[in-house]
Amino acid sequence: QTSWLDLKTWEKLVRVMRMPRERTYIMVKPDGVQRGLVGEIIKRFEQRGFKLVAMKMKAASPELLQQHYADLSSKPFFPGLIAYVGSGPVVCMVWEGTDVVKTGRKMLGETKPLESNPGTIRGDYCIDVGRNIIHGSDSVDSANKEINLWFTPEEICEWRSMEEPWVYE
Ligand code: ADP
Repeated sequence: QTSWLDLKTWEKLVRVMRMPRERTYIMVKPDGVQRGLVGEIIKRFEQRGFKLVAMKMKAASPELLQQHYADLSSKPFFPGLIAYVGSGPVVCMVWEGTDVVKTGRKMLGETKPLESNPGTIRGDYCIDVGRNIIHGSDSVDSANKEINLWFTPEEICEWRSMEEPWVYE
């Protein structure tokens, strides 16, 4: 007879909790903060099964935002983008879990709200590409760069959730 106390269960617990996990950088932009969507966004990532490992509120300087959006510096909307994301505090987060970068992008929706399906964050809560409430890293490589840009290593909390054996096979 098996029970939650048997060795196999404990072996699984240890295996799952030691699995390497991917990380992504998620940021609620000033319009998302003003519109009271911080809790809703955190809720969606938590309920999906991802783990929050860092979070802070910050008024980002133009220099920091220029670095964050460096790839877009030649775009005509760049000055407006820097002004928009710098127009109020943002909520910066690091979320961890298997395939969290790709899954996070799916949860966000498309860059343009019009192309974002209902059920996604942008598809449910915004209309305009220049007020699309949330940022999420688009690759593992950019996630690592963005996490290093916005957080110091001490700000990232290593912790193990007892939920993990229920989230992962
Ligand atoms: P994403 O945020 O989906 O990764 P991009 O990296 O292409 O998209 O663009 C960064 C941000 O720049 C977008 O989230 C949006 O806020 C803004 N942006 C992108 N395209 C436009 C545009 N055509 N007009 C105004 N703002 C834009």
